[in-house]
Amino acid sequence: MAQIHPFGSFPPAIVAGVFDGDVLTELPFEVQKLKQVHGTEIVEVSAVGEDVEGDALLTNTPGVRLLIKTADCIPLVLWDPSSGWIAAVHAGWRGLTADLVPKTIARMIEKGARTADLQIGIGPSLGVECAAFSEPSKEIPAQYHWAVQPDQHVDLWAILERQLREAGVNMGKVEWMRTCTACDPRWFSWRRDKTLARLGTFIEIRVL
Ligand SMILES: [Zn+2]
Repeated sequence: MAQIHPFGSFPPAIVAGVFDGDVLTELPFEVQKLKQVHGTEIVEVSAVGEDVEGDALLTNTPGVRLLIKTADCIPLVLWDPSSGWIAAVHAGWRGLTADLVPKTIARMIEKGARTADLQIGIGPSLGVECAAFSEPSKEIPAQYHWAVQPDQHVDLWAILERQLREAGVNMGKVEWMRTCTACDPRWFSWRRDKTLARLGTFIEIRVL
């Protein structure tokens, strides 16, 4: 049975978690999704509608559940308590190394967010032991070559952690599952199974 794994660090006014079923075939709730393209487009929405092209979603409308589909890529959800905006980000290695996460935080700051206040949830994704690249020095931008290991694996989690710290995020407000999709059979993994199924990481401002 598919389950929801809630991010317990968010207050009751925010619903956030990871659904471990296949969101492409058995999504049990209404969501706003993306047509994810491994880019850096951030899309603002004010109602649930058709899938929109991009890799990050932003809203301040209660009841609009934002959802990211992944099977190895990093899914993040963010909430700023003072401005009331939420975001959901699809950070595959391309989006991650194109700085989509800092760009999304910057967009939230434009909306009045304060980085030190951000509450963040990070779902399951590929750990360094499973993140083998064929030619990481060509695939990964030079500024992140420090994360390339001697065995050609890339520590994507370390890149994300540095981006969050440099943006001014309080790491004590980050709930990071730190479980590898390829190692942990609870999650879908493209690397492990070449599956088309996708788990879903979501966030919603509860309608009061
Ligand atoms: Zn692993």
